[in-house]
Amino acid sequence: MSLAPLARIPKAELHLHIEGTLEPELAFALAARNGITLPYADTEALRKAYLFTDLQSFLDLYYELMAVLLTEDDFEALADAYLARAAEQGVRHAEIFFDPQAHTARGVALGTVVEGLSRALARSEERHGVSTKLILCFLRDLPAESAMETLEAAKPYLDRIVGVGLDSAEVGNPASKFREVYAAADALGLRKVAHAGEEGDPSYVWEALDVLGVERVDHGLRSMEDPELVARLVRDRVPLTLCPLSNVRLRTIEVLEDHPLPAMMDAGLLCTVNSDDPAYFGGYAGDTFHAVHEALALDPERMRELARNSFEAAFLDGSEEDEARRARYLADVEAWEF
Ligand SMILES: [Zn+2]
Repeated sequence: MSLAPLARIPKAELHLHIEGTLEPELAFALAARNGITLPYADTEALRKAYLFTDLQSFLDLYYELMAVLLTEDDFEALADAYLARAAEQGVRHAEIFFDPQAHTARGVALGTVVEGLSRALARSEERHGVSTKLILCFLRDLPAESAMETLEAAKPYLDRIVGVGLDSAEVGNPASKFREVYAAADALGLRKVAHAGEEGDPSYVWEALDVLGVERVDHGLRSMEDPELVARLVRDRVPLTLCPLSNVRLRTIEVLEDHPLPAMMDAGLLCTVNSDDPAYFGGYAGDTFHAVHEALALDPERMRELARNSFEAAFLDGSEEDEARRARYLADVEAWEF
């Protein structure tokens, strides 16, 4: 399937869980390599399991399939497959989440995960034309102490990690639970983002901003329920990394046509559009651009705005090299012809 030019516009992907890029074919290949038997007859049977009813039903399968990821080679293969696919979809820069605790809990060392992913990321710009950053996410349904231990264990690898995030089951696990961990991450010079307002109400977004001091809010979908929160996000130009296909697959939004993205853009919010867990949610970054363009009748200039926003919201401000990348990407967005 080839994507239309509008879907292939240069873009940054800022909300992407590398574990969520595990396609059934790769899952079976890695399972065979590692002598693991998956409880599905074949890739078709596994695809059928990808029909979720809510966030938790997705998370159950997501963690089950991670069992196939054991070695540095596995993590390298996973990241390389994503980057190749992302490049075809117009992604020029990717800030990639990973969930160390999902692996250390299975006996896979954090070093194995980081070294494996880093191998693919290190040659991504040359091989795929995609620059990258890595963001370490804490699982919010685990205790804060576990997050602190993870941050401690990550210290030898901080040269390869740009920031920290917070993901997994949101409701009942507010951002304030991670106040100390985020303060410690901040002291280490790490950038801060967090999932908030995906299933949780606007109070989760307020806490991410005021207690954790995040620079970007991942999802932030339910912010629209609180006009004061919208005003704050607009005033501070806090980027939101929206994931419309994920919202539909996890039933936060019934149909894509009902997605508040246009209203959020009209409200002046700095919106970006991302794929979240593309192997599970039915589309990569370009597919997502295509889908929102079709379903929400966003005209080409609004699509260009989304692409521009993605580079503005990216952590491409830490070095002269990154600033030059951003300038180049933004120029390409402006010059892009639909
Ligand atoms: Zn996410």
